[in-house]
Amino acid sequence: MKKQLGITTKIFIGLILGLITGVLLYMLPQSTFKSDVIIDGLFFLVGQVFLRSILMMVVPLVFISLVNGSASMGDVKKLGRIGVKTVLFYLVTTAIAISIALALASVVNPGVGLDLSDIVTKEPIINERVPLVEVLIDMIPRNPVAALTNGNMLQIIVFAVFMGVGLSAMGEKAKPITGIFDILNDLMMKMVSYVMLIAPYGVFALIARTFATEGFDVMIPLLKYMLTVVAALLIHAVVTYGGMLKAFTGLSFGKFLKNFMPAVSVAFSTASSGATLPVTMEVAEDNLGVSKSIASFTLPLGATINMDGTAIMQGVATIFIAQVYGIDLTFSAILTVILTATLASIGTAGVPGVGLVMLSMVLSSIGLPVEGIALIMGIDRLLDMTRTAINITGDTVCTLIIAKSEGEFNQDIFDSEENSSNVS
Ligand code: ASP
Repeated sequence: MKKQLGITTKIFIGLILGLITGVLLYMLPQSTFKSDVIIDGLFFLVGQVFLRSILMMVVPLVFISLVNGSASMGDVKKLGRIGVKTVLFYLVTTAIAISIALALASVVNPGVGLDLSDIVTKEPIINERVPLVEVLIDMIPRNPVAALTNGNMLQIIVFAVFMGVGLSAMGEKAKPITGIFDILNDLMMKMVSYVMLIAPYGVFALIARTFATEGFDVMIPLLKYMLTVVAALLIHAVVTYGGMLKAFTGLSFGKFLKNFMPAVSVAFSTASSGATLPVTMEVAEDNLGVSKSIASFTLPLGATINMDGTAIMQGVATIFIAQVYGIDLTFSAILTVILTATLASIGTAGVPGVGLVMLSMVLSSIGLPVEGIALIMGIDRLLDMTRTAINITGDTVCTLIIAKSEGEFNQDIFDSEENSSNVS
């Protein structure tokens, strides 16, 4: 009998075929059939249908699962402990990430000897600096309904956890409502699993379209910069995440990656940790064995405040821009970059390209020219895809460690050979 391919394998095949198709299409001569019918017609349609279908799930899924998760945790102290551990983990891994990036870039020197006129520049988008106090105040919604409508993730998290805590404190009396949230949560997961059925085609179309339209020629002068970012991302994944996973849980990073592949593929093709969130949550529960109550809390938080991949890009970009402009960075400037990039990571929304906008905050904190961002804008999309995959990997490694430390981890699900087809 023909063995059915698991969804993980199908999504991975979609990713590889998308890459190949995109590059081949890019090499074909320009024609209206190629651009209007295939790239901006068929691929755009299929890609956007998938993207919108998962985006549609983000707000209701985060809200419902978080109310449900915090209500079922039943213990405010436990919630507080998990909250503190999670935020600490996220901050520490981000600081490690940016340190790796700064160290590597200082050795590789990606910007030394580069002529500015070699590089195609675009107008940079410059971000207004938002004080940390305001970021903190803004976590509390004036109006929770508006927070839901605008998809303001931190505000949704605060309101949902607050509601869950209230429900759990009400005990028996709240049972009818917590029961409904429990059913709604299962419904959300069911809907996500339906969306996952089209994921292989969506991933294929999104990637093929990106690669068919990316200009590879503009990458050549920036190849050293790009490779430094990718190398730092890989080092962080294997050494930091692999090491932490082994040290804190004894789990193998290889097996983790295998189980986690559907989320990595979707992050790579959408370049958005926010859009990938429904998939990350489903994979964490169904393939990695994390309990619903932990995953529903730490993952939405991570997709919003934890961006290790983005911090890595910002570290390498800072050194690169300083070198291109011939500016020497002092030790205290380097420390400022570590601090600002870690904080900027909190304020970076999980959507495509924002990391680059937030880079202006890092650059201006040490007096580097923000116009430098224009140098790397043209090639950022590919790096955005790669760093988003690392961003969500960081969220999930931290989640696994916390789940294990709280006794909320199921080893059998993690070990299961079948789990790649659980998403059904
Ligand atoms: N695209 C990234 C994410 O969604 C954010 C960024 O670095 O631009 O995780």
